[in-house]
Amino acid sequence: MAAPCRLISRLAVVSGGGSGIGRAVCQRFASEGASVVVADRNEESAHKTLELLSRNYRGQEHVALEVDVSLKESVGRLVNAIQSHYFQPPSICVSAAGITQDEFLLKMEEEDFDRVIQVNLKGTFLLTQAVSSALVAAGISKGSIITVGSIVGKVGNVGQINYSASKAGVEGLTRTAAKELSKYGIRCNCILPGFIASPMTENLPEKVMSKVSPLILMGRMGKPAEVADVCAFLASDDSQYITGVSIEVAGGLFIG
Ligand code: NAD
Repeated sequence: MAAPCRLISRLAVVSGGGSGIGRAVCQRFASEGASVVVADRNEESAHKTLELLSRNYRGQEHVALEVDVSLKESVGRLVNAIQSHYFQPPSICVSAAGITQDEFLLKMEEEDFDRVIQVNLKGTFLLTQAVSSALVAAGISKGSIITVGSIVGKVGNVGQINYSASKAGVEGLTRTAAKELSKYGIRCNCILPGFIASPMTENLPEKVMSKVSPLILMGRMGKPAEVADVCAFLASDDSQYITGVSIEVAGGLFIG
């Protein structure tokens, strides 16, 4: 079956596009016809994603740009650079940049709590705000903002007091953004991945995985491409009547 081509002529920005889920989202969007801005703090990995896109999806113009999503000036520079390059703001925005700094509540340092909130939660706020402001200013009345929370934001996880708080915040932020932005034609939805095989999870201790695995109904970790499938649906008109929701992409984790 031919891959769908639902994103022709669309411009997308993907933070965290240099790795894991973000990279898979960039590839999926490009495969559906979008021009993709790969945005990442790690310039080298962003350029690796760009190479993949430029090799496999030549019909559109893709770029890689450096950004630290936790800094307002950096996010502002990113959105300005996109507008200078493409003469329009991106109408699809995926906030996939994220970090972990795991520790038990009783031992967590304040800096480690703050850093995770700054990147995962404030970073999502800054990018969502900058992109939606640019869309409204340009009078573009169609947009899809996709944020990346986590199943952990709903159910909690031992050793992730900062991460689970940041991801619960991302869900609340997304619902509020949906309420405020619907009048501008901008939809906002949140993806809640479960355990996805990526650089973020590759060093999870065996002890943790042996406890989690039996709780996954599908019996395995997810693939970044399986999260990207859902992002492509949310970015496309196939979801044009969907806003303010969270979608679990977790193989049935924790429902049993
Ligand atoms: P990853 O570590 O493979 O990729 C994260 C990317 O974010 C990296 O390229 C990194 O350079 C970038 N990044 C980090 N800080 C940044 C910053 N300040 N500014 C810009 N870019 C920054 O992780 P992943 O597994 O692909 O995770 C992607 C998103 O999905 C994250 O938000 C993560 O919390 C979320 N998530 C992942 C899983 C999982 O099991 N892998 C589960 C639930 C949610």
